[in-house]
Amino acid sequence: MVLYLLKPGELYLKGGNRDDFVRILSRNLALMLRETKARINVRHGRFYVDCPDAAAAEAEDVFGRLFGITGWARARKVDKTTGAVVAACVEEGKAAWEAGARTFRIEARRADKRFPLNSQGICVEAGDAVLGAVPGFKAKMTGADAVIHVEIRENAYIYGGEHAGLRGLPAGTAGRGMLLLSGGIDSPVAGFLMAGRGMRLDAVYFHAPPYTGDDALHKVERLAEIIGRYALAVRLHVVSFTEVEQRIKNGAPAAWNTVLLRMAMMETAEKIARRRRCKCLVTGESLSQVASQTVENIACTGSVVTLPVFRPLIGMDKEAITRIACQIGTYPVSILPYEDCCVLFSPEHPILYGDPDEALRLYRRLELPSAVKSFGGGTADEWNMDH
Ligand code: ATP
Ligand code: MG
Repeated sequence: MVLYLLKPGELYLKGGNRDDFVRILSRNLALMLRETKARINVRHGRFYVDCPDAAAAEAEDVFGRLFGITGWARARKVDKTTGAVVAACVEEGKAAWEAGARTFRIEARRADKRFPLNSQGICVEAGDAVLGAVPGFKAKMTGADAVIHVEIRENAYIYGGEHAGLRGLPAGTAGRGMLLLSGGIDSPVAGFLMAGRGMRLDAVYFHAPPYTGDDALHKVERLAEIIGRYALAVRLHVVSFTEVEQRIKNGAPAAWNTVLLRMAMMETAEKIARRRRCKCLVTGESLSQVASQTVENIACTGSVVTLPVFRPLIGMDKEAITRIACQIGTYPVSILPYEDCCVLFSPEHPILYGDPDEALRLYRRLELPSAVKSFGGGTADEWNMDH
């Protein structure tokens, strides 16, 4: 068995939400670890996970995808005696030295005041023992290569090598949102960021066969699956938008194509969102990244819906977005070459500063809302190619 210690985001552990936070975080962790046969114990704001050795790699992968923790580490649980604590610190010290650390520091927290040494005392005794056991190792108070943590609670826990957690809020603490998911780099990152604020997500993809092929759809399915690893599964709705695109192409000035298409996407997404009890829409728009994302055009796009529209990338540049896409594993899928419908339909000279009144006038003239309805007339499921 391997023991892990996880630290929930303490900022949120205060006030009335504390219990909900801990309950949801523990449920999420249990769901994500369900294949591993690991056991989870929650005590005094700490999560302890006992995991069979064979599943350790999978568990560590899960901890790296769990929103709501600031850090995690493999830990040693020992008796609450000075001897056992010091011996475990020496083991941790040796392991850190072997991993390449040349300086270390001990950090002790004594929650159980009955333990004979106070925090300072633990640091001194354990530090001396490590220095004696590992020749060449040096103590360093700030900027040490390795930090050995000692926590005296219902047991004594010793751990080094703490890994950073994703932080954020546990998925499910902030309701559900509808992510407009294209096959690009941006929208998956937008979904990930909202998941990190506690949102569960559904996703909708507007497919335009035969202009967009099965490969493009498959790519979006994979993206939804990857975001789902952080957001406890994402249900993907696929809407066939070919007819809408054709109507726009035939019935409006070419310069307006993309803006009108976005408006139709927003309106349709909102309809599915309401049926799925989503409280907002989420897009991957980033201010002025492309012609359809000037502030004027974003105003046009948003003018057809009343649910709040969250655009978590609005102030980020492409490099920062790409870095996150790489970190979360969507980038290699996003850059696969299959075009999405919008690329095929984008005009040569798109309007840059659309006027929302003009946009609405053109949009209404297309009588798209009824076209949108005619897809299935009824439930979101009828619209789905169902995933
Ligand atoms: P992305 O990288 O997410 O595709 P982008 O910078 O390419 O974004 P656009 O293609 O202009 O930007 O799309 C803006 C946003 O509109 C996307 O981030 C996404 O939320 C939504 N969107 C665009 N095309 C689709 C589609 N086919 N299905 C669902 N949502 C879409
Ligand atoms: Mg795109």
